[in-house]
Amino acid sequence: MNMIFLGPPGAGKGTHAQMLMDTLGIPQISTGDMLRKAIKAGTPVGLEAKTFIDAGALVPDDVVIRLVRERLLQQDCGKGYILDGFPRTVAQAMALGEIAAIDVVLNLDVPDAEIISRLSGRRVCGSCGGTYHVSWLNGSDKCPACGEQLIMRQDDSPETVANRLAVYKEQTAPLIKFYSDLGLLRTVMGEGTPDEIQAKVLSALHMGA
Ligand code: AMP
Repeated sequence: MNMIFLGPPGAGKGTHAQMLMDTLGIPQISTGDMLRKAIKAGTPVGLEAKTFIDAGALVPDDVVIRLVRERLLQQDCGKGYILDGFPRTVAQAMALGEIAAIDVVLNLDVPDAEIISRLSGRRVCGSCGGTYHVSWLNGSDKCPACGEQLIMRQDDSPETVANRLAVYKEQTAPLIKFYSDLGLLRTVMGEGTPDEIQAKVLSALHMGA
């Protein structure tokens, strides 16, 4: 199954894509993670992407499309994949349409106030990539999974979050209509506990218990 997770920043795309990846045995492909890895490794793509990411803007379409095109050719994508954070523009969606047949697009819908609260409290592990909210951490700043230091992503600062939300509305939200017109869209309200949302996701995919 070739699937897209659509939704604003902080909607839970990564969390739920990861849970589904374990259930379905297909890879989660996060362009945000790929770009952060490229920045850490100091590659030319990373150097180009960093200014855009730090400002909460989108990395140019041609850069991201090239990354995804190469990634989808890898062997582990043969039985399907979950795209998390791609496409983010209509141009990306059209380019994807030329290289892949998408089966379903899961749209996680979360109100702005909830997004702002989630992102301002989000902490990530620089070592294993685990993602948490401060309200679950009982004051600890160490990763519950591997014990390493948790950090706040630079682009989760309040000013950058405001910009990311504006960019989402302007450039990514039009994909809701794009995929709805293709008959591929399923929308889930991304509110509640992670388990509750996951149950709604599975039910939208007709995979519920
Ligand atoms: P994410 O981890 O998905 O929230 O992505 C973090 C940042 O990476 C975004 O705010 C963008 O700057 C950049 N990014 C990730 N995916 C894309 C994409 N498909 N197109 C353009 N920029 C992207």
